[in-house]
Amino acid sequence: MRIIVDEARCEGYGFCAEAAPHLLELDDEGELTVLTEQVGQDERADAEAAVRVCPVAALKLAP
Ligand code: SF4
Repeated sequence: MRIIVDEARCEGYGFCAEAAPHLLELDDEGELTVLTEQVGQDERADAEAAVRVCPVAALKLAP
């Protein structure tokens, strides 16, 4: 499973990075980086939490 960022939507709020700091990182300029190419089963709950907390629905999970 992968985390897909819709960069056009992302406003750099960073809630996702707070929910899953080992999966997502927001830099000082508000650029979001996905840290993990493949989300493992043990990280799935955190990835889903990150998707849920984004206020502009800029994240989704793909197989
Ligand atoms: S919470 Fe949403 S808008 Fe904020 S950095 Fe994450 S993906 Fe972007």
